[in-house]
Amino acid sequence: MDNTLRIAVQKSGRLSEKSLNIIRDCGIDFGCDGRVLRERAANFPIEFLYVRDDDIPTYVKDGVADIGIVGRNEYDEKGYQLEVVRDLKFAACRLSIAVPHDFDYKGLESLEGKRIATSYPNILMSILSAKGISATPVVVSGSVEITVQVGIADCICDIVSTGTTLKMNGLKEVEPIYWSTAVMIARQNFLSDEKEKAEIFARLLERMDALMLAKNKKYVLFNLPAERLNEAAEIIGGMKSPTVTPLMDKDWVSVQSVVGEDRFWSVFEKLRSIGAEGILVLNIEKMTE
Ligand code: ATP
Ligand code: ZN
Repeated sequence: MDNTLRIAVQKSGRLSEKSLNIIRDCGIDFGCDGRVLRERAANFPIEFLYVRDDDIPTYVKDGVADIGIVGRNEYDEKGYQLEVVRDLKFAACRLSIAVPHDFDYKGLESLEGKRIATSYPNILMSILSAKGISATPVVVSGSVEITVQVGIADCICDIVSTGTTLKMNGLKEVEPIYWSTAVMIARQNFLSDEKEKAEIFARLLERMDALMLAKNKKYVLFNLPAERLNEAAEIIGGMKSPTVTPLMDKDWVSVQSVVGEDRFWSVFEKLRSIGAEGILVLNIEKMTE
Protein backbone atom coordinates (compact mmCIF):
# COMPACT_ATOMS: atom_id res chain seq x y z
CA MET A 1 0.00 0.00 0.00
CA ASP A 2 1.11 3.54 -0.76
CA ASN A 3 1.90 5.26 2.49
CA THR A 4 1.86 8.82 1.36
CA LEU A 5 -0.82 11.13 2.64
CA ARG A 6 -2.47 12.93 -0.25
CA ILE A 7 -3.80 16.43 0.35
CA ALA A 8 -5.89 18.42 -2.11
CA VAL A 9 -5.38 22.18 -1.99
CA GLN A 10 -6.63 24.97 -4.22
CA LYS A 11 -4.30 25.54 -7.17
CA SER A 12 -4.73 29.27 -7.32
CA GLY A 13 -7.21 31.49 -5.54
CA ARG A 14 -8.14 32.85 -2.16
CA LEU A 15 -7.32 29.66 -0.28
CA SER A 16 -4.03 28.70 -1.92
CA GLU A 17 -1.42 30.75 -0.18
CA LYS A 18 -2.69 30.33 3.36
CA SER A 19 -3.31 26.60 2.90
CA LEU A 20 0.26 26.10 1.76
CA ASN A 21 1.66 28.38 4.46
CA ILE A 22 0.08 26.27 7.16
CA ILE A 23 1.72 23.14 5.77
CA ARG A 24 5.02 24.92 5.29
CA ASP A 25 4.97 26.25 8.86
CA CYS A 26 4.65 22.62 9.96
CA GLY A 27 8.23 22.23 8.72
CA ILE A 28 7.23 20.47 5.51
CA ASP A 29 9.44 21.26 2.59
CA PHE A 30 8.04 21.49 -0.96
CA GLY A 31 8.49 23.61 -4.05
CA CYS A 32 5.05 24.65 -5.33
CA ASP A 33 6.17 26.34 -8.54
CA GLY A 34 2.58 26.81 -9.68
CA ARG A 35 2.93 24.69 -12.82
CA VAL A 36 2.92 21.19 -11.41
CA LEU A 37 -0.45 19.72 -10.45
CA ARG A 38 1.01 17.11 -8.19
CA GLU A 39 4.02 17.24 -5.93
CA ARG A 40 5.67 15.31 -3.12
CA ALA A 41 7.21 16.96 -0.11
CA ALA A 42 10.93 16.44 0.38
CA ASN A 43 10.94 15.67 4.09
CA PHE A 44 7.46 14.35 4.98
CA PRO A 45 5.35 11.57 3.43
CA ILE A 46 2.78 13.89 1.93
CA GLU A 47 1.76 14.57 -1.67
CA PHE A 48 -0.04 17.69 -2.85
CA LEU A 49 -2.74 17.77 -5.50
CA TYR A 50 -3.33 21.29 -6.81
CA VAL A 51 -6.93 21.54 -7.99
CA ARG A 52 -9.96 23.83 -8.25
CA ASP A 53 -11.56 24.39 -4.88
CA ASP A 54 -14.99 23.14 -6.08
CA ASP A 55 -13.42 19.74 -6.79
CA ILE A 56 -11.74 19.27 -3.42
CA PRO A 57 -14.69 17.66 -1.55
CA THR A 58 -15.26 15.26 -4.47
CA TYR A 59 -11.61 14.23 -4.63
CA VAL A 60 -11.63 13.50 -0.92
CA LYS A 61 -14.92 11.59 -1.12
CA ASP A 62 -13.64 9.47 -4.02
CA GLY A 63 -10.31 8.72 -2.36
CA VAL A 64 -8.24 10.59 -4.94
CA ALA A 65 -7.04 12.62 -1.96
CA ASP A 66 -7.14 11.63 1.72
CA ILE A 67 -7.58 15.12 3.09
CA GLY A 68 -8.21 18.59 1.71
CA ILE A 69 -8.41 22.26 2.63
CA VAL A 70 -11.55 23.96 1.35
CA GLY A 71 -14.10 26.65 2.23
CA ARG A 72 -16.89 25.27 4.41
CA ASN A 73 -19.30 26.72 1.83
CA GLU A 74 -18.01 24.38 -0.89
CA TYR A 75 -18.04 21.44 1.51
CA ASP A 76 -21.59 22.06 2.72
CA GLU A 77 -22.83 22.71 -0.79
CA LYS A 78 -21.60 19.30 -1.95
CA GLY A 79 -23.26 17.70 1.06
CA TYR A 80 -20.92 14.68 1.25
CA GLN A 81 -20.46 12.87 4.53
CA LEU A 82 -16.83 13.68 5.26
CA GLU A 83 -15.02 14.49 8.46
CA VAL A 84 -14.43 18.18 9.20
CA VAL A 85 -11.20 17.70 11.11
CA ARG A 86 -10.26 21.30 11.90
CA ASP A 87 -11.64 24.77 11.37
CA LEU A 88 -8.61 26.66 10.07
CA LYS A 89 -10.21 30.06 10.69
CA PHE A 90 -9.00 31.82 7.55
CA ALA A 91 -10.83 32.85 4.34
CA ALA A 92 -13.83 33.98 6.38
CA CYS A 93 -16.79 35.03 4.26
CA ARG A 94 -20.57 35.11 4.37
CA LEU A 95 -23.38 34.20 2.03
CA SER A 96 -25.96 36.94 1.90
CA ILE A 97 -29.25 37.72 0.28
CA ALA A 98 -29.02 40.81 -1.93
CA VAL A 99 -31.97 42.48 -3.62
CA PRO A 100 -32.51 45.33 -6.11
CA HIS A 101 -33.27 48.71 -4.56
CA ASP A 102 -36.98 48.58 -5.38
CA PHE A 103 -37.44 45.17 -3.71
CA ASP A 104 -39.51 45.55 -0.54
CA TYR A 105 -37.46 43.24 1.71
CA LYS A 106 -38.95 42.53 5.14
CA GLY A 107 -37.11 39.35 6.03
CA LEU A 108 -36.57 35.91 4.55
CA GLU A 109 -40.33 35.48 4.14
CA SER A 110 -40.16 38.14 1.40
CA LEU A 111 -38.35 35.51 -0.69
CA GLU A 112 -41.43 33.28 -0.91
CA GLY A 113 -42.04 32.35 -4.56
CA LYS A 114 -39.06 34.36 -5.82
CA ARG A 115 -36.32 33.33 -8.25
CA ILE A 116 -32.99 33.52 -6.44
CA ALA A 117 -29.74 33.31 -8.39
CA THR A 118 -26.91 31.57 -6.54
CA SER A 119 -23.93 29.25 -6.85
CA TYR A 120 -24.99 27.62 -3.57
CA PRO A 121 -28.51 26.26 -4.19
CA ASN A 122 -28.24 23.46 -1.61
CA ILE A 123 -27.15 25.70 1.24
CA LEU A 124 -29.74 28.34 0.31
CA MET A 125 -32.63 25.92 -0.09
CA SER A 126 -31.91 24.12 3.16
CA ILE A 127 -31.91 27.41 5.07
CA LEU A 128 -35.13 28.56 3.39
CA SER A 129 -36.94 25.26 3.72
CA ALA A 130 -36.05 25.09 7.43
CA LYS A 131 -38.10 28.29 7.70
CA GLY A 132 -40.91 26.93 5.54
CA ILE A 133 -40.13 29.25 2.63
CA SER A 134 -40.25 27.98 -0.92
CA ALA A 135 -38.37 29.74 -3.68
CA THR A 136 -36.85 28.79 -7.03
CA PRO A 137 -33.06 28.65 -7.21
CA VAL A 138 -31.48 29.88 -10.43
CA VAL A 139 -28.11 28.15 -10.45
CA VAL A 140 -25.20 30.05 -11.94
CA SER A 141 -21.52 29.38 -11.39
CA GLY A 142 -20.27 32.96 -11.54
CA SER A 143 -21.26 36.62 -12.10
CA VAL A 144 -24.30 36.08 -9.92
CA GLU A 145 -24.74 39.85 -9.55
CA ILE A 146 -25.85 40.43 -13.14
CA THR A 147 -28.71 37.93 -13.09
CA VAL A 148 -31.24 40.43 -11.76
CA GLN A 149 -30.44 43.08 -14.40
CA VAL A 150 -30.73 40.55 -17.19
CA GLY A 151 -34.08 39.40 -15.87
CA ILE A 152 -33.45 35.78 -14.94
CA ALA A 153 -33.73 36.27 -11.17
CA ASP A 154 -35.55 38.51 -8.67
CA CYS A 155 -32.69 38.60 -6.19
CA ILE A 156 -29.47 36.77 -5.41
CA CYS A 157 -27.68 34.82 -2.70
CA ASP A 158 -23.93 35.17 -3.00
CA ILE A 159 -20.64 35.53 -1.15
CA VAL A 160 -20.25 39.13 -0.06
CA SER A 161 -17.11 40.80 1.15
CA THR A 162 -17.23 44.58 0.67
CA GLY A 163 -20.52 45.01 -1.15
CA THR A 164 -18.93 47.11 -3.91
CA THR A 165 -19.73 44.66 -6.70
CA LEU A 166 -23.32 44.48 -5.48
CA LYS A 167 -23.66 48.24 -5.55
CA MET A 168 -22.25 48.45 -9.05
CA ASN A 169 -24.99 46.07 -10.16
CA GLY A 170 -27.82 47.93 -8.45
CA LEU A 171 -28.15 45.49 -5.55
CA LYS A 172 -27.95 45.83 -1.78
CA GLU A 173 -27.13 43.24 0.84
CA VAL A 174 -30.13 42.70 3.09
CA GLU A 175 -29.42 39.59 5.12
CA PRO A 176 -26.43 37.34 5.76
CA ILE A 177 -27.62 33.75 6.07
CA TYR A 178 -24.50 31.59 6.28
CA TRP A 179 -20.89 31.97 7.46
CA SER A 180 -17.84 30.10 6.22
CA THR A 181 -14.14 29.68 6.95
CA ALA A 182 -11.59 27.29 5.50
CA VAL A 183 -11.74 23.79 6.97
CA MET A 184 -9.63 20.68 6.75
CA ILE A 185 -11.70 17.72 5.59
CA ALA A 186 -10.91 13.99 5.53
CA ARG A 187 -12.61 10.85 4.29
CA GLN A 188 -14.23 9.21 7.28
CA ASN A 189 -12.98 5.68 6.69
CA PHE A 190 -9.35 6.40 5.93
CA LEU A 191 -8.76 7.37 9.54
CA SER A 192 -9.87 3.94 10.73
CA ASP A 193 -8.97 1.72 7.75
CA GLU A 194 -5.54 2.92 6.72
CA LYS A 195 -3.48 2.82 9.84
CA GLU A 196 -0.18 4.09 8.50
CA LYS A 197 -1.76 7.01 6.67
CA ALA A 198 -3.77 7.82 9.76
CA GLU A 199 -0.51 7.98 11.70
CA ILE A 200 1.04 10.36 9.19
CA PHE A 201 -2.09 12.47 9.42
CA ALA A 202 -1.91 12.47 13.23
CA ARG A 203 1.67 13.77 13.01
CA LEU A 204 0.57 16.52 10.65
CA LEU A 205 -2.35 17.46 12.90
CA GLU A 206 -0.17 17.63 15.96
CA ARG A 207 2.08 20.12 14.21
CA MET A 208 -0.89 22.12 12.95
CA ASP A 209 -2.42 22.26 16.41
CA ALA A 210 0.85 23.54 17.84
CA LEU A 211 0.78 26.35 15.29
CA MET A 212 -2.86 27.22 15.82
CA LEU A 213 -2.48 27.26 19.59
CA ALA A 214 0.51 29.59 19.40
CA LYS A 215 -1.20 31.94 16.98
CA ASN A 216 -3.13 34.04 19.45
CA LYS A 217 -0.75 33.85 22.36
CA LYS A 218 2.09 36.06 23.55
CA TYR A 219 5.05 35.16 25.69
CA VAL A 220 5.47 37.79 28.39
CA LEU A 221 8.57 38.37 30.55
CA PHE A 222 8.91 41.05 33.20
CA ASN A 223 10.62 41.97 36.45
CA LEU A 224 8.54 42.35 39.58
CA PRO A 225 9.00 43.19 43.25
CA ALA A 226 9.00 39.71 44.85
CA GLU A 227 6.29 40.67 47.34
CA ARG A 228 3.77 41.24 44.51
CA LEU A 229 4.14 37.78 43.03
CA ASN A 230 0.77 36.44 44.19
CA GLU A 231 -1.01 39.41 42.70
CA ALA A 232 0.81 38.89 39.39
CA ALA A 233 -0.16 35.20 39.33
CA GLU A 234 -3.78 36.19 39.84
CA ILE A 235 -3.67 38.78 37.05
CA ILE A 236 -2.12 36.36 34.59
CA GLY A 237 -4.45 33.53 35.66
CA GLY A 238 -5.78 30.70 33.52
CA MET A 239 -2.59 28.63 33.58
CA LYS A 240 -0.64 26.34 35.89
CA SER A 241 1.82 28.87 37.27
CA PRO A 242 4.17 31.48 35.91
CA THR A 243 7.87 30.59 35.81
CA VAL A 244 9.67 32.64 38.45
CA THR A 245 13.43 33.22 38.45
CA PRO A 246 15.29 35.02 41.25
CA LEU A 247 17.29 38.11 40.40
CA MET A 248 20.57 39.35 41.92
CA ASP A 249 18.56 41.86 43.89
CA LYS A 250 16.71 39.62 46.37
CA ASP A 251 13.68 41.91 46.45
CA TRP A 252 12.97 41.33 42.77
CA VAL A 253 12.07 38.35 40.60
CA SER A 254 11.79 37.74 36.87
CA VAL A 255 8.47 36.28 35.74
CA GLN A 256 7.65 34.48 32.47
CA SER A 257 4.24 33.48 31.24
CA VAL A 258 1.94 32.96 28.26
CA VAL A 259 -1.01 35.33 27.81
CA GLY A 260 -3.86 35.24 25.28
CA GLU A 261 -3.68 38.14 22.84
CA ASP A 262 -7.30 39.12 23.56
CA ARG A 263 -6.43 39.73 27.24
CA PHE A 264 -3.00 41.11 26.62
CA TRP A 265 -3.58 44.84 27.13
CA SER A 266 -5.64 44.48 30.28
CA VAL A 267 -3.00 42.13 31.74
CA PHE A 268 -0.28 44.58 30.71
CA GLU A 269 -1.95 47.51 32.46
CA LYS A 270 -2.62 45.56 35.65
CA LEU A 271 0.96 44.30 35.77
CA ARG A 272 2.21 47.87 35.39
CA SER A 273 -0.04 48.93 38.25
CA ILE A 274 1.59 46.42 40.64
CA GLY A 275 5.08 47.57 39.70
CA ALA A 276 6.12 45.28 36.83
CA GLU A 277 9.12 46.63 34.94
CA GLY A 278 10.99 45.77 31.79
CA ILE A 279 8.00 44.02 30.26
CA LEU A 280 9.07 42.06 27.19
CA VAL A 281 6.46 40.60 24.83
CA LEU A 282 7.36 37.93 22.29
CA ASN A 283 5.44 36.14 19.57
CA ILE A 284 5.20 32.39 20.01
CA GLU A 285 5.88 30.33 16.95
CA LYS A 286 4.57 26.95 18.10
CA MET A 287 3.32 25.50 21.38
CA THR A 288 1.51 22.57 22.99
CA GLU A 289 -0.93 22.52 25.91
P1 ATP B 1 -11.29 28.05 -8.33
O1 ATP B 1 -10.62 28.52 -9.57
O2 ATP B 1 -10.34 27.20 -7.49
O3 ATP B 1 -12.62 27.39 -8.54
P2 ATP B 1 -12.86 30.19 -7.09
O4 ATP B 1 -12.85 31.41 -7.93
O5 ATP B 1 -14.05 29.32 -7.06
O6 ATP B 1 -11.52 29.35 -7.43
P3 ATP B 1 -11.96 31.78 -4.83
O7 ATP B 1 -12.55 33.08 -5.27
O8 ATP B 1 -10.48 31.63 -4.81
O9 ATP B 1 -12.60 30.55 -5.58
O10 ATP B 1 -12.54 31.51 -3.36
C1 ATP B 1 -12.25 30.34 -2.69
C2 ATP B 1 -12.97 30.34 -1.36
O11 ATP B 1 -12.53 31.45 -0.57
C3 ATP B 1 -14.47 30.51 -1.40
O12 ATP B 1 -15.15 29.31 -1.68
C4 ATP B 1 -14.76 30.99 0.02
O13 ATP B 1 -14.77 29.88 0.92
C5 ATP B 1 -13.54 31.82 0.35
N1 ATP B 1 -13.74 33.29 0.32
C6 ATP B 1 -13.35 34.16 1.27
N2 ATP B 1 -13.65 35.42 0.95
C7 ATP B 1 -14.24 35.40 -0.23
C8 ATP B 1 -14.77 36.39 -1.10
N3 ATP B 1 -14.75 37.69 -0.78
N4 ATP B 1 -15.30 35.99 -2.27
C9 ATP B 1 -15.29 34.70 -2.61
N5 ATP B 1 -14.80 33.70 -1.82
C10 ATP B 1 -14.29 34.04 -0.65
ZN1 ZN C 1 -14.20 27.45 -7.33
